[in-house]
Amino acid sequence: MRALVKTGAGPGLELRDVPQPMIGINDVLIRVHKTGICGTDLHIESWDPWAARTIHPPLVVGHEFVGEIVEVGSNVADFHPGDLVSGEGHVVCGRCRHCLAGRRHLCAATIGLGVGRDGAFAEYVALPMTNVWHHWPGVNEEVAAIFDPFGNAVHTALAFPVLGEDVLISGAGPIGLMATAVVRHAGARHVVVSEPNAFRRELALKMGATLVVDPGERALPDVFAELDMVEGFDVVLEMSGNSTALRAAIAAMAHGGGIALLGIPTEEIALDVNAIVFKMLTLRGIYGREMYETWYKMTVMLQSGLDITPAITHRFGFRDHEAAFEAARHGDSGKVIMDWLS
Ligand code: NAD
Ligand code: ZN
Repeated sequence: MRALVKTGAGPGLELRDVPQPMIGINDVLIRVHKTGICGTDLHIESWDPWAARTIHPPLVVGHEFVGEIVEVGSNVADFHPGDLVSGEGHVVCGRCRHCLAGRRHLCAATIGLGVGRDGAFAEYVALPMTNVWHHWPGVNEEVAAIFDPFGNAVHTALAFPVLGEDVLISGAGPIGLMATAVVRHAGARHVVVSEPNAFRRELALKMGATLVVDPGERALPDVFAELDMVEGFDVVLEMSGNSTALRAAIAAMAHGGGIALLGIPTEEIALDVNAIVFKMLTLRGIYGREMYETWYKMTVMLQSGLDITPAITHRFGFRDHEAAFEAARHGDSGKVIMDWLS
């Protein structure tokens, strides 16, 4: 089969012929239809310090996908050839305290698809049946292809109650863009999106932002009067990983507010702990998706009218992977999709 492979320690990816993955008795084999490019894939492609310490080539990369089941292991009863599915990219141990208690997103022994095992940027991918999510007939396949990052957005957006609240989203990358639509759908009053890139600010407005801010141009407290806000934001979704953005968010919080941290900083960040203490803020780290409550929420929100399609801005065939990665790396994009059928 054709697959996009990190062949050795260094930058780049190669489209190669590799053996189709073998499946065990509890696994399913999936013919990949469409995939999404994630920041993680960009790190692996460029071979940054994180990739150099984490990735052991050769490795088929990629973890965001939708496809059709073509084969199931002898132990698998709930999935059948022809089913349209996506995969949860975190393969958990199944045996630790948290896994046994059904809190699989807290497993400390998680192995990442396309990171610690061969991934989905290929014609076929194999996964344990416990990592597979059924789609409903008629689902938009481009949306289904990005359930993994959409799940990051939903997990973060629903970390604190947002009904009637004023929400700040810091960083309008693909995940911040999807989160904008989610908190709107979930009933937030105002959704302010802070993002330095003008293309992405424009997209954030399409996703339902009340107001967009260029953090280099306008301080956050400056918007309070315009939006009739008294004290500050009730909920912040930190989706930039930027230290300045996090500090600005803490300074702009109302007492008792919650900050859900999804963005991954590249270094340690010094914070105003006095502000956290005296405002009695709650900071909560978010990693991945809740298995499978987040997946359920994604499904039912889409079925009840949530639209995340404006966040998808580019489409390529898998042979044009270099152009696809270039588009994803360029700031003037939302989600970039690669097609594996044509
Ligand atoms: P992205 O890098 O495309 O988006 C980050 C955005 O933040 C960019 O648009 C950037 O312009 C913006 N930004 C930079 N400085 C800013 C500032 N000072 N204020 C406001 N915005 C600023 O990434 P993404 O794919 O949307 O992912 C969002 C973040 O979540 C990234 O940090 C990513 O590494 C992280 N992530 C975390 C998980 C997890 O499980 N915790 C999973 C996937 C991605
Ligand atoms: Zn575990």
